[in-house]
Amino acid sequence: MTQTAIPMHTAEDETYGFVPREGVLFERSAEGRTGVELPPLDVPEADLPPAEFVRDELPLPQVSELDVVRHFTRLSQYNFAVDLGFYPLGSCTMKYNPKINDAIANWPAFSHLHPYQDESTVQGALRLMYELQEWLAEIAGLPAVTLQPSAGAHGELTGALIIHAYHAKQGRQRKHMLIPDSAHGTNPATAAMVGYETVTIPTGADGNLDLDALKRTLDELGEDVAGLMITNPSTLGLFEEHILDIAEAVHAVGGLIYMDGANMNAMVGVAKPGDLGMDILHYNLHKTFSVPHGGGGPGAGATAVRADLARFLPVPVVAKDGDRYYLDYDRPDSIGRVRAFYGNFNNMVRGYVYMRALGGNGLTEMTKDAVLNANYVRAQLKGVYHLPFDRICKHEVVFSGQWQAERYGVRTLDIAKRLIDYGIHPPTIYFPLTVPEAMMIEPTETESKQTLDRFIAVMKQIAREAEETPEVVKSAPHRTPVRRLDEARAARQPVLRWTPPAE
Ligand SMILES: *Cc1c(COP(=O)(O)O)cnc(C)c1O
Repeated sequence: MTQTAIPMHTAEDETYGFVPREGVLFERSAEGRTGVELPPLDVPEADLPPAEFVRDELPLPQVSELDVVRHFTRLSQYNFAVDLGFYPLGSCTMKYNPKINDAIANWPAFSHLHPYQDESTVQGALRLMYELQEWLAEIAGLPAVTLQPSAGAHGELTGALIIHAYHAKQGRQRKHMLIPDSAHGTNPATAAMVGYETVTIPTGADGNLDLDALKRTLDELGEDVAGLMITNPSTLGLFEEHILDIAEAVHAVGGLIYMDGANMNAMVGVAKPGDLGMDILHYNLHKTFSVPHGGGGPGAGATAVRADLARFLPVPVVAKDGDRYYLDYDRPDSIGRVRAFYGNFNNMVRGYVYMRALGGNGLTEMTKDAVLNANYVRAQLKGVYHLPFDRICKHEVVFSGQWQAERYGVRTLDIAKRLIDYGIHPPTIYFPLTVPEAMMIEPTETESKQTLDRFIAVMKQIAREAEETPEVVKSAPHRTPVRRLDEARAARQPVLRWTPPAE
């Protein structure tokens, strides 16, 4: 690329990094430029591997250190982040992640550990894991915990495998996993991965699971039901009011209940899933306990089980004998490993630091504030946007853009894009699937009343714009480096790596 190829109006913001025009703008490489100088060779020169393993050429960008710094700094500025603005992405819990978590996770005492180190040299790390297991067990009301799963969905897989192992031990494998239509999409996907046929249970008009439909299904399938995977609070942001009846009905046919606890930030310190009859639960430490996430990981999906299911947990489990912590591999009924080594240890450190910083009362306060903030938004936007389930919500509230769509042809996607112009990350949209034009708003507890008030004002403003100047909303965003993207193509034909421009 030569200088003259760059348009004078520096339109690089238009396309930089997202839709690079072939070779132009994105390309920073210049023949002969370099950012490092290698020291003189001070070891004997080695022979190259056999010729078939050696590439003829290795085209790498030729850039200076400054080029690299500018490139990545610019890319980071094009990303929205919790550290830049309000990010009410429902179900994802984009709360503020205190920096002390990272500071302590980066201590060499933690970050320089090797997974093959002798147990006697990692007693501190094992103690941290053990205590984290204990606290998560206490919060869940379920006594045994594995920290191995690396994501929420991975915790679900672990749980579903435990359900499978449990029925195998009972001497009879079962065929069906029941899934409410208000469950997170990972629930049916997980059940299917383990080989279960999924049966959908509908939601009633009040936003709860339709108890009669559940009972009919249980009557019909009886002892072929392996269990029920329920997201609570559901993806409608609602607490399942019939949870005790549901647990009783499923247990009556010998099934187990898996609770998707990715959003335990709505329950910590207030209700224990174990007390509600739940048998297995996963957490997302990378939501509830402030481990940073987004971009696909790494996460931490600790999973808790009731006492008689502890024997099936993945090996190893961190255990304690007197004053000594150790990795317990002696568990003959274990489902085996679900991951290399012990899980994402540095994320355990982050979750642990967060929990210690807040303490028991602080964690309960976290939950109450998360629920309060969501209900504040619900009450303020009711009447402006359609509220399909008009009752107290938990950590998030689901609105619908149906009115704007029907009256002005402004869809939820347009509203989401318009929010970006106001410096706000869009909520989760078109999910849950059962709500047309859904907008799933999760403010989290870390946002101030001022931030929520501004968000509410912006949402009202966009509703006015939809009525008065719908084109402005439909053509949003207007103030971003790139406008609307071809998201389908971005998902199907992603350009994920730099490739050198053709000569
Ligand atoms: C985020 C989420 C998951 C999945 O968690 P991952 O870590 O992305 O696999 C599952 N269920 C619910 C309710 C969630 O919000």
